[in-house]
Amino acid sequence: APQIVWFRRDLRLRDQAALCAAAENGAVIPVYILDDETPGNRKMGGASRWWLHNSLSALQRSLAKHNSRLILRRGESAAELARLVEETGAKTIHAIAHYEPWWREAEKKVAQDMDLALYDGNYLMPPGSLTTGSGDPYKIFTPFYRAMMRALPQQSPREEPSLTLPENWPKSDSLESWTLLPSAPDWAGGMRKSWEVGEDAAHAQLADFGDRVSDYENDRNLPSIDGSSRLSPHLHFGEITPAQIWSALEGHRGEGAETYRSEIAWRDFAQNIIFQFPHYPDGNYRDRYDDFPWRNPNRGHVIAEELEAWQMGKTGYPIVDAGMRQLWATGWMHNRVRMIAASFLIKHLLIDWRHGEEWFWDTLVDADYGSNATNWQWVSGTGVDSQMFPRIMAPLSQSEKFNAADYIREWVPELAALPDKDIHDPSGDKRPHDYPEKLIGHKEARERALDAYRQMKGE
Ligand code: FAD
Repeated sequence: APQIVWFRRDLRLRDQAALCAAAENGAVIPVYILDDETPGNRKMGGASRWWLHNSLSALQRSLAKHNSRLILRRGESAAELARLVEETGAKTIHAIAHYEPWWREAEKKVAQDMDLALYDGNYLMPPGSLTTGSGDPYKIFTPFYRAMMRALPQQSPREEPSLTLPENWPKSDSLESWTLLPSAPDWAGGMRKSWEVGEDAAHAQLADFGDRVSDYENDRNLPSIDGSSRLSPHLHFGEITPAQIWSALEGHRGEGAETYRSEIAWRDFAQNIIFQFPHYPDGNYRDRYDDFPWRNPNRGHVIAEELEAWQMGKTGYPIVDAGMRQLWATGWMHNRVRMIAASFLIKHLLIDWRHGEEWFWDTLVDADYGSNATNWQWVSGTGVDSQMFPRIMAPLSQSEKFNAADYIREWVPELAALPDKDIHDPSGDKRPHDYPEKLIGHKEARERALDAYRQMKGE
């Protein structure tokens, strides 16, 4: 009997445990279901849908090399799978396990009526599998990472299997009919310029980064240069696996490679948090922050305008504006600048981090339920980590320290003519008339934030 492979965020043929198992058991029917119902209010954002279209298209091309196809269906996953099983007489549905709460629910539902075989493979270790001495999953990164380094087996990614074709193919939607790409206005021009999507592109990107990994320790913090791997959307959509990355970097022993490995482990850590606290992105982990006096954008027109100024990169802080415009244009933002821009929204503007998390969810090509929320709650200090709220980043000195001048020139053309010494803080008569004034001064913002923090603590 044919075997169904249910693809989700694992859009690859290599190191795909579900595909390998299916191929060993019979003819393979690869399936992707566009399911906007199961995730509830967490359906994929605009930038993710753009990536998804291109990634599915790449997967179709790879499968065509095997004379195989990708069957596309739209609807609620469990119902569509049941229909497919009936139409094809398939025996087993093979899938990589996913840990977003809606996928865990859907997996349970599918397993009630059908033969569902789940495999791990999108993470270095199955989320939740590493536990402390008392048997609980970790809440702190450093001990988590230490335990992982002790427990992690040698990584040996699987090869691409050869595929047997089914006698009959079930019907499929056309990818174009899903209209995942923007029509008018076409906001994806910057994305097309910035990204090659798909499994082959992911491996080419890794090979390129392999030559630069020894400089990663220093270069990753400098937004003006291409110092990080830019693998995040490829990893999110499962075009490449951490096992493949681990194994490709095996020979690299320097500080750059060590730091890079620990960043990949942060991704595992974020899933491990979601595994323990499935609704982590919805609210403050530390519930005392429920009383924090945010300037809530829903309650005042002026503040809604400030949220919009942040979204559009018009805050008057060049490093923040450069980052937010890079995000809008390309679907990605440099990590150091993500931290600065998030801190600015939360602490300078005193806007609840969930508004930022939501904006990132819609605009990032790597928008990830676990990684986005753990990072937002880390910056805001509302999460599992130590108290970060009173540590208020100074955007202007961060910009100088990490040499962001060329980055600002690229993304904030109004400032491109300014010399390095002025570009980080073009105030007074140095500010070009078409560049906005600061929404609030740094010192004033800092005092206001610390006051709000004290107010929450009842001091
Ligand atoms: P590299 O520096 O090359 O790192 C390699 C890989 O390690 C990344 O691709 C990513 O998979 C993982 N990684 C690195 N840093 C982190 C981290 N702090 N947390 C989790 N994984 C990490 N990353 C996402 O993948 N999705 C998100 O939705 C997301 N939202 C973020 C929101 C905020 C406010 C902040 C501060 C960070 C967020 N990050 C998110 C983490 C990080 O910024 C990106 O993973 C990184 O910038 C991606 O670029 P890269 O692939 O070149 O990273």
